[in-house]
Amino acid sequence: EELYRINGWGEPYFSINAAGHVTVSPMGDRGGSLDLYELTNALKQRNLGLPLLIRFSDILEDRIERLNACFSRAIARYSYAGDYRGVFPVKCNQQRHLIEDLVRFGKPHQFGLEAGSKPELMIALALLDTPGSLLICNGYKDQEYIETAMLARRLGHTPIIVLEQIEEVELVIEASRKLNIEPILGVRAKLSAKGIGRWGTSAGDRAKFGLTIPEIIRAVEQLRSTDMLNSLQLLHFHIGSQISSISVIKDAIREAGQIYGELVKLGANMNYLDVGGGLGVDYDGSKTNFYASKNYSMQNYANDVVAAMKDACQQRGIAVPTLVSESGRAIASHQSVLVFDVLGTSDVISEIPELPADDDPLVLRNLYETYQSISVDNYQEAYHDATQFKEEAVSMFGFGYISLTDRARVERLYWACCRKILEIARQQDYVPDDLEDLEKIMASIYYVNFSVFQSAPDAWAIDQLFPIMPIHRLNEEPTCRGTLADLTCDSDGKIDQFIDLRDVKYVLELHPLKKNLPAEDGQFATGADSASHSQSTHEPYYLGMFLSGAYQEIMGNLHNLFGDTNTVHIKLTPKGYQIEHVVKGDTMREVLGYVQYDAEDLIENIRRRSEQALQEHQITLEESQLLLQNYERSLSRYTYLSS
Ligand code: PLP
Repeated sequence: EELYRINGWGEPYFSINAAGHVTVSPMGDRGGSLDLYELTNALKQRNLGLPLLIRFSDILEDRIERLNACFSRAIARYSYAGDYRGVFPVKCNQQRHLIEDLVRFGKPHQFGLEAGSKPELMIALALLDTPGSLLICNGYKDQEYIETAMLARRLGHTPIIVLEQIEEVELVIEASRKLNIEPILGVRAKLSAKGIGRWGTSAGDRAKFGLTIPEIIRAVEQLRSTDMLNSLQLLHFHIGSQISSISVIKDAIREAGQIYGELVKLGANMNYLDVGGGLGVDYDGSKTNFYASKNYSMQNYANDVVAAMKDACQQRGIAVPTLVSESGRAIASHQSVLVFDVLGTSDVISEIPELPADDDPLVLRNLYETYQSISVDNYQEAYHDATQFKEEAVSMFGFGYISLTDRARVERLYWACCRKILEIARQQDYVPDDLEDLEKIMASIYYVNFSVFQSAPDAWAIDQLFPIMPIHRLNEEPTCRGTLADLTCDSDGKIDQFIDLRDVKYVLELHPLKKNLPAEDGQFATGADSASHSQSTHEPYYLGMFLSGAYQEIMGNLHNLFGDTNTVHIKLTPKGYQIEHVVKGDTMREVLGYVQYDAEDLIENIRRRSEQALQEHQITLEESQLLLQNYERSLSRYTYLSS
C-alpha cells in the first residue's frame, strides 16, 4: 500500500484486499466492492481481451453526489441565499454511455452540461433533459452555433451563451433580432489572477479565451445600446485545469466577485457566477500543491467559492448569484481503470561473474577486484572505479587491444558491480547524487500490451502522472524495478515517470514474471541491447492505470494504428455486478478504414499476389490458403496482442 500510495489517491474507491488484489468500492464508503483481478479474469472469459478499460458507473454517480453534497454543505454552513447548479464539461469525456449516465445521475441535482464546440453542443442539446439544469455554451461560436443555442430555449433548455470573443457580441445581437428570442448571455473574463501549473496560461491578459476588462465594458455598452443588457446574466472564468493550490482559486474568486459586483452596478441582470473547471485530482495522494496533487479537498473548494461570493455580494449589498462550476476532471477521472498485461521483460544481466584467469586482460582483472571489494564503506567509490574500468575497456576495444569476447565479459562484470552497489544503496537512508541514476540504468523494461498514445496521451504529451500498479500479487514483495514500454515502435511510447510522495520516481516496483506455464505459440519477442529477454510464456501479470477517465480517451490517437481499447461499464448489484454496456475496441478492419483502406480490396490484393506466387511455384497451395485465412481473420481482430 505504501509503495503505490493507494491509500492516498485511491481512497475511497481503491484499496488492497487480503488476497493481495486491488479492490474497487465503486460506491465509496456506502458499501459493496469488487476484486479487480477476479473481475478482469471474468471479463477475459467473456472474450474481452486486454487492454481493457473498465468503467464503474457507480463511481461516476458517487462523484456527482459528492460534488453536490459539498456545495450543499457549504451553502448551509454560510447561509448562502442562492443555489448551486453544476455542469459537466462534455470535452472531458464525450462517450455516449458516460454522458447518458451523467445526465441520469445528475437529475436530482439539476446537473447540466457544458459544450465547448458545435459537436459537443449537438450532444448536450439532444441528451440533456433535466428540467432546470443549465446548458453552458462555451468555445468559438458562429452564427449557426448561436442560433441553435437560442432556439434550444424553445425546447425548454436553459442555454447560456458565454461570450468568449468580442466578435460574438454582434453575432448574438443579430441572432436575437432575427429569431426574436431573448437569449441568456454570459461573459468569460480574462482574470489577472494567474493559474498555475501546466494549464496556468488559461488565465491572464494573453489567455486564448475570454474578454479583457476593456472588452467586457465594450460588450456591456453594445448590449445596452441594443436594449439587451438584461440578457447578460452570467460571469464565467476558467483559470486552467488541475489547480493544485487553493490560494490560486481563492484569488480568482475574489477578483471575479468584484467583476460580478461591477457588472451588477453597470446594469446587467446578473444571476449566475460560473467558476469554470480546475477542481483538482490527487493523482499522487500527497494532498500537497505538487502538480500531480492538490492541497485542498472538494469541501474546501466548495466552501471557498461559496464564502468568497457571499462576502463579495454582502459588501455591495447585492443578491448572491446561483453558483455554477464546470468540474470535469474531478468528476470523470476516478470512474475508469485501464487494465493491461505485461508481455515480457528485458532485464539487465546480473549473473555472478566468473573469476578471471591470470592471463586475462588487466582491465578485466581490475574490474573483478573492484567487484569483490564492494561494501557499505566503499560502494560509491567502487561505482566510480567500475565505471572507469568499463570505459577503459571500451576504449581499448576501439584500438583493438581487447577482443569482443573480453569486452562482453567486462560489460557483464560491470552490470554485476552495479547490481551489488545498488543493493547496498537501497539499504541506505541517503543515496548520493551520483548514484541516483543507477536505479534507472538497472531497471528492467516491462513490455506492456497497450499504446501510451491511445490510452495515456497526457503521460506522453505533458508528462502527466497517473497511478500505475499491479492489480494482483500485492502480498508478494515486488523485487524488480521497471519502466514500461508500450506496443508502438516509437521510443516515446513508454512510461518512465511514476507517482511518488510529492515527487516523481523513475522506476516502478514490480514483480518478476512467473515463467511456469508450458510454452505456446505466438510468444512475444523483445529486442534490446545489453539485455537478456524473458521470451517464454509466463503467468499473466496485470497492471492497472487509475484515475485516467478524464481527457485521455478522446485525445488518444491511432499511432501505429493501435485503436480504441475494449470498454465495459460495470454496475454493482446486490448479488455482485452487472455488465451494463460492452463497447468493443477497434478491429484492424476499422482502423484501416480510418486511413481509407478498404479491407475487401486488401484481401483481394493478397489473393491475387498468392495466385501469382502459386503460378511461379513460390508458395504451396496450403501456404497460400493459410496466409489468406490469417489475413482475413486478422482484419476482424483487436489491434492489440492477444495474451
Ligand atoms: N471549463 C472550461 C472552459 C475548460 O476549458 C475546461 C477544461 O480545461 C473545463 C471547464 C474543465 O476543467 P477541469 O477538468 O479542470 O474541471
